[in-house]
Amino acid sequence: MRKRLLSGMRPTGPLHLGNYHGALANWVRLQQEYDCFFFIADWHALTSDYEKPDRIRGYTYDILLDWLSVGLSPEQSTLFIQSQVKEHAELYLILSMITPVPWLERNPTYKDQIEQLSSKDLSTFGFLGYPVLQAADIIMYKPFGVPVGVDQAPHVEITREIARRFNHLYGPVFPEPEVILTDTPKLLGTDRRKMSKSYGNAIFLSDPAEEVAAKVATMITDPQRMRKSDPGNPEICNVFDFHKLYSPPQFVAEVDRRCRSAEIGCVECKRRMAEGLNAFLAPIRETRRHYQERPDRVEEIIAAGRAKAQQTARRTMDEVRAAIKL
Ligand code: SF4
Repeated sequence: MRKRLLSGMRPTGPLHLGNYHGALANWVRLQQEYDCFFFIADWHALTSDYEKPDRIRGYTYDILLDWLSVGLSPEQSTLFIQSQVKEHAELYLILSMITPVPWLERNPTYKDQIEQLSSKDLSTFGFLGYPVLQAADIIMYKPFGVPVGVDQAPHVEITREIARRFNHLYGPVFPEPEVILTDTPKLLGTDRRKMSKSYGNAIFLSDPAEEVAAKVATMITDPQRMRKSDPGNPEICNVFDFHKLYSPPQFVAEVDRRCRSAEIGCVECKRRMAEGLNAFLAPIRETRRHYQERPDRVEEIIAAGRAKAQQTARRTMDEVRAAIKL
């Protein structure tokens, strides 16, 4: 029996290189070793986008295509859509009865998000309670661990506390999931801020090659280097961080040397990096096209993921109902 892992993503737009290196690359590796459940958290997208839900369905489909494109395998992993497994809503309701409100109010990302998304009215019960829904999503499948980035670790901690409280009140049903921290390489957006859809600085996995080249051409480099004749410093250049991921090691060493001695200009350097990046993205685009041309196969994958997730969720809910004697 392989140990189980579970993780999910909110469908708020197409996935970019930051999502790939921050989560997906790790998931693709983990599915070789673990029994992985990966879900698209469309109800979670409603917590912040409840006023404009019309794009959630399209994004859900796009994300599934992104997942398949990078090599998440429906044979090795269970890929499913949260809102198709209604048991999540029932467990969420039951957990909401036992979760003290101060646990949610002290959630470090709650106030942060309210400030960051100030254009939206997030003073809703659903937004405050989303860690409870997240706890239901996770413990439903009794995973051994949850692979997350360091900023998501507090959410898993609340999940552990809620599971512990349930077990204390009604008897041992849920194991407390471990945090499996994802080691992520440094990769900023084209403007050197964190790569994010909302900043308009992201390179998407589904971008065509010309668009990738155009975005790379706008990337901010070493800010001290005004002219080609000025020696540059690759250590503070975002383009160089990309080279380290997408260019062959001998070329990375060459850029390092030729940038410092002002033998290579930023225009050429970016062009070469875009070639490496496009070579990396080419098989991802190809697999995406394969699935885009086979919508019936994608529907089959969605249905199979739903059936498999539901089977486990139903078993868990039988235990939960028995534990609380309902
Ligand atoms: S030559 Fe390349 S590494 Fe050097 S500053 Fe320009 S873009 Fe950055």
